[in-house]
Amino acid sequence: VPLIEVRGVTKTYPGRDGPTESLRPIDLSINEGEFVSVVGPSGCGKSTLLKLVAGLAPASGGEIRIGGRRIVGPQTNVGIVFQNAVLMAWRNVSNNILLQAEMRGMDMAAARKRAQQLIEMAGLKGFEKKYPWQLSGGMQQRASICRALLHDPAVMLMDEPFGALDAMTREKMNIELQRIWLESRKTVLLITHSIPEAVFLSDRVIVMSERPGSIAATYDIDLPRS
Ligand code: ADP
Ligand code: ADP
Repeated sequence: VPLIEVRGVTKTYPGRDGPTESLRPIDLSINEGEFVSVVGPSGCGKSTLLKLVAGLAPASGGEIRIGGRRIVGPQTNVGIVFQNAVLMAWRNVSNNILLQAEMRGMDMAAARKRAQQLIEMAGLKGFEKKYPWQLSGGMQQRASICRALLHDPAVMLMDEPFGALDAMTREKMNIELQRIWLESRKTVLLITHSIPEAVFLSDRVIVMSERPGSIAATYDIDLPRS
C-alpha cells in the first residue's frame, strides 16, 4: 500500500535574480513501513523534496498524497529530524521530548509514558534529567528522534540527521537508527550524503541528478536486517 505518493511534483523558487528551478517532475511512491533514502549532489533539491512532503512549502506543480489525501499545509502525521538536534537548552531530555506533546495538546500522562518508552528504545535511560549541553552530539540527536516520534507519526522525515556528527558516532547512530526503525516500523524518508549509510539503512535508495533534480536511478536494497 503506498502511504506517500508524489506525482509529477516540481518546485521553482521565486527570487530577485529570477526563479530557481529546483525540482523537475518527481514521481515517487513509498509504501507503508518502507525505508527510503535519497542521495544526490548538494543543491539538487533533496531538502526541497522533503519540505514539500512535510507540507512546509507548496509544490509548484503536481501533487503529493499521504494516506490517500492530498496534502495542503504542514502535516501533523509526520515527524521531522533535521541535521542539528534542535533541543531547547533550558529543558532537560524528558522535557525536550514532551515539548511535542505540549505543542500538539496531547494527553500529558499518556505522552509521559510514551516518552519513557522512547527514551529506553533510544538508549537514553538515566539521562532524562540531563540538559542538552550535558550530552554528546549523538545523544542529542537520539533525543530529537524521540521527540519526532512522540506523537506516533505515520511518516518520519529526516534531513541529514547525522551530518553534523563525527564518522565514528555516525556509524553508531546508523546502528541505533536501524534498531529504532526495526522496533517502530515507521515509513521513513531519509536524506543523506552517505551512500553506505543509505544502503545500510534502506529498502530503496533514490539517486537524484544535479539541480533541477529529478530521479536519476533507483536501487532496491535487499540486505538482511539484524
Ligand atoms: P539539497 O538539499 O539537495 O542540497 P535544496 O533542496 O536545499 O538542495 O536546494 C535546491 C535548490 O533550491 C538550490 O539551488 C537552493 O539554492 C534552492 N533553494 C532552496 N531553498 C530555497 C528558497 N527558500 N528560496 C530560493 N531558493 C531555494
Ligand atoms: P554518542 O554515540 O551518543 O555520540 P558518545 O560516543 O559520545 O555517544 O558516548 C558514548 C556513551 O557515553 C553514551 O551512550 C553514554 O552512555 C555515555 N555518555 C556520553 N556523554 C555522557 C555524559 N555527558 N554523561 C554521562 N554519560 C555520557
